[in-house]
Amino acid sequence: MDYSGVRVAVWGAARSGIAAANLLAELGADVYLSDQRQEEELNLEHLDQRVTFVGGGNALSDASILVPSPGIPPSNTSLRAAAAAGVRVMSEIELAASVARAPIIAITGTDGKSTTTEMIASAVRAAGKTAVVAGNIGDPFSRRVLEAGPEDVLVIEVSAFQLWSCVEFRPAVAVVTNIAEDHAEYFEGDVSAYVSAKERVLTDMEPGSTAVLRWDDSVVRDFDVPDGVHVARFSPAGSIEGWGLQDGHLVYDGRAVMATDELPVPGHHNHANALAALAAGTALGLDLERMVDGLKNFKGLSHRLELVRVRGGVRWYDDSKATNPHAAAAGLKAIPDPKVVITGGYDKGLDLSPFVAALTNTQHLICTGPTAERTARAVSEYWTGPAVQLSQAATMSDAVAQADSLAKPGHVVVLSPAASSFDAYQSYAHRGQVYQKAVHALPSNPE
Ligand code: ADP
Repeated sequence: MDYSGVRVAVWGAARSGIAAANLLAELGADVYLSDQRQEEELNLEHLDQRVTFVGGGNALSDASILVPSPGIPPSNTSLRAAAAAGVRVMSEIELAASVARAPIIAITGTDGKSTTTEMIASAVRAAGKTAVVAGNIGDPFSRRVLEAGPEDVLVIEVSAFQLWSCVEFRPAVAVVTNIAEDHAEYFEGDVSAYVSAKERVLTDMEPGSTAVLRWDDSVVRDFDVPDGVHVARFSPAGSIEGWGLQDGHLVYDGRAVMATDELPVPGHHNHANALAALAAGTALGLDLERMVDGLKNFKGLSHRLELVRVRGGVRWYDDSKATNPHAAAAGLKAIPDPKVVITGGYDKGLDLSPFVAALTNTQHLICTGPTAERTARAVSEYWTGPAVQLSQAATMSDAVAQADSLAKPGHVVVLSPAASSFDAYQSYAHRGQVYQKAVHALPSNPE
């Protein structure tokens, strides 16, 4: 698409808005970036000089295209008014994709997006290609898109916030990891709007492209796939036509491809992520053996069931990225050992029963943050196994001190929030860092 001389409004001057504005300026558009805040309250150090900044509101500035920041929900009235007036609303990822020269692998779903994205990048690199990773996982897509040439691969994590406003987004490969309940408040409690935003990743795909779909997930299996788009199925629930799991191996059409214990990251959920990664790379014609080597050398990501410390026979894990009950449950299931679990955070109002169902072998649950009381109630309502002791902690260091006094050699302590971090932290990463610091601050020789 040719943007030269086109007037474009970008709303929201945070990282992705600035990246979109800079890309558009680079492409010769006439760009107006606006934000509710004024210039002095923002960090516009990296904004291209050719972009006009307008503070104190959402300025349409007579633009024919509007790029809203992912923080602006579909219900925003100015956005609705602009769309009703015929302005073309375009998400930041759609903008970047419209000028991409490399094939795009887009990864979405409720859980496992970042891990699958990085697994795909490892597999692509092992297969001898350059992978440019961007999107929800790190740098905005608009910031990196022009780096990738036709021989490279763009591996892009996309969230529901970025997808709902797409009109023409056509990845060569789209991966949907799973669908569970999340982000209810952004979509005003409308679960179907969240699900449709995810399904949106497939809508404009062209014939010959590939949808990699989690086949044991009934919601994903029912997604509408456009005519001519190949479907690559994956399921960690058993051997299927496509990518499955059998006798301790990742299999393709029943043929063993890799032993699961060769995967350096723990848990059944990571088998699913690895299957999706191999399916995605195969869809681009990459060499399977080399991709398998890439997965064997995969380094897990921080704050996803990351082993922080082993002390006095107790292993301390950080799963701060488990920001919803379903993700937290997957992390807990990956650790069969007796455990002390630290949970809680900002309350998104999600159903906690999947988390409670995964408390097998949990001796003690330390509840923190605004979800504490609801968690305690959910345990008494849904937990049917041997008694789980409950306590509350006001701060992370209090939670870690309690866990330290409760955990015995052979136990595992895991931070498994099942909730967002915004009650007390800037992000899940910040929460994880605070936890890790408290764990490292414990004296080296426990009594
Ligand atoms: P996302 O980017 O979708 O938030 P991540 O790869 O960062 O996902 O993983 C976040 C957490 O979700 C992990 O710490 C783990 O507990 C859980 N998780 C990872 N992969 C899966 C999966 N395939 N299914 C369910 N839960 C998962």
